[in-house]
Amino acid sequence: MEMLRSKVDVSSYINNSFMPLEQTPIQILNSPVLKTPWLKVTPATQQTVIHAIDSADEAMREWRTVTAFGRGKILRAVAQQIRQNRTFLAEIMTLEIGKPIRESETEVEYAAGYFDWYASEGERVHGLIMPSRHSQKRLSIQYSPVGVCGLITPWNFPLAIPGRKVAAALAAGCTVVLKPSPECPMSSLALGYLAAEAGLPPGALNVVVGDEEIIGEVFLNSTKIRKLSFTGSCEIGKLLYRRSAETLKKLTMELGGHAPLIVFEDANLDQAVKETISAKFRNSGQTCVAPNRLFVQEKIYDAYLDKLVSAVQALKVGDPMDPSTEISNVLHPSAEKKFKEHCNDAIQKGARRYLEGVPAILGDINPQMKVYHEETFAPLLPIIRFKEESEVVQKANDTEFGLAAYVFTQNLARADRVVAQLEYGLIGLNDGMPSSPESSFGGIKGSGFGREGGPNGLHDYLVEKCVSAQP
Ligand code: NAP
Repeated sequence: MEMLRSKVDVSSYINNSFMPLEQTPIQILNSPVLKTPWLKVTPATQQTVIHAIDSADEAMREWRTVTAFGRGKILRAVAQQIRQNRTFLAEIMTLEIGKPIRESETEVEYAAGYFDWYASEGERVHGLIMPSRHSQKRLSIQYSPVGVCGLITPWNFPLAIPGRKVAAALAAGCTVVLKPSPECPMSSLALGYLAAEAGLPPGALNVVVGDEEIIGEVFLNSTKIRKLSFTGSCEIGKLLYRRSAETLKKLTMELGGHAPLIVFEDANLDQAVKETISAKFRNSGQTCVAPNRLFVQEKIYDAYLDKLVSAVQALKVGDPMDPSTEISNVLHPSAEKKFKEHCNDAIQKGARRYLEGVPAILGDINPQMKVYHEETFAPLLPIIRFKEESEVVQKANDTEFGLAAYVFTQNLARADRVVAQLEYGLIGLNDGMPSSPESSFGGIKGSGFGREGGPNGLHDYLVEKCVSAQP
């Protein structure tokens, strides 16, 4: 680990070793926290990416024959390595993207949890024996690893998103080539390095860093990559979906969200305020499951807003390296741009200002405002007043997105009715943090398809085989 701590020149990690460094690394990476260059990156060339895919392909021959229990043992050792290096990994994440250090520490545990979860899930993959209509035939259904997986991840969870894809693929018997966001290569390289320390054989997990066009192109054209798992924006997701048709890859698409959060008049208001804050302001609102439209029922609108505004005002905004910071003063440049654009547009069109600056709360939001329809991905909470249950369900579903939704009510019958009607893949009922390794994560409609974690996450990395046998 000492070797990794002192690393300032980084390159792709293939076959459990770093690729040779170029004399003149082409990319210099600034830390948004230090505001100075902190990493020199030798970007992967086309040949490097092909080498990574070939190494994964070669390694898969061996890895798929390791028993699920043998794979599980290594995955648990990876989880242990991650936990043992919690402070280091958390610091890297904060330096890479400016996430508050406390949250980065939580993310380390979140990532480790996926390795434990999938280690056990892998041990329980089982087929089926089916009755045949022909007495002499025996029908069975078996599951095999899909093949080499190309994994493409965004910047907002530098360790947990790569971790949950890598853990699932490895548990299923696949090998992988991971392409992290260029803003946070170090978290993924550290994951590759720690996995090797934990006993993962060479070639099973390869990390390629650099230019998306080069890496993406090689992934898409490769017939060795049988599965592509992507987390990121809808725009890039659709592009990769179209381009994967040529080689007919199996796909997982974890795309953007536009989560509604509904507070009914029969909600426990203190609970709703606390959970709204954790749902919205985690990672300064830069999460795909962050509520983007907060619907509050008329009768409790003022009472709820009073409590919410004073609780949000009390949050500590500041230096992400300071353990007492709750909202980072460092936003991703694209989030900062969208934040300003959405705030200005809403204010211009008549939004009421409850709280300005970071974080912001704006009221009287209407459908003419950008924030009503578009994902903000920043610490802006737009509030919409509603009267009736049927009205709010219709408005909550009136979007192309379908990732996460939140409902606050103490009325069981209402909870059942509303949950049944919401068109979302993940619903928090009186719960602002519904995601965990054991809960099923993924969207519907324009937010994509496939699931991560939960009881079906592993199946995205398996293919089904039917065997009809007779003596
Ligand atoms: P993004 O711009 O779509 O980028 C995601 C990843 O795709 C990055 O590694 C990016 O690399 C890469 N990429 C871009 N163009 C590519 C291409 N042509 N071929 C191959 N790879 C390509 O998304 P982002 O800004 O990093 O993340 C924010 C978005 O992700 C938001 O919309 C958010 O809702 C979504 N998200 C979804 C989930 C979920 O689980 N559903 C979770 C987190 C985030 P470059 O940076 O080099 O372009």
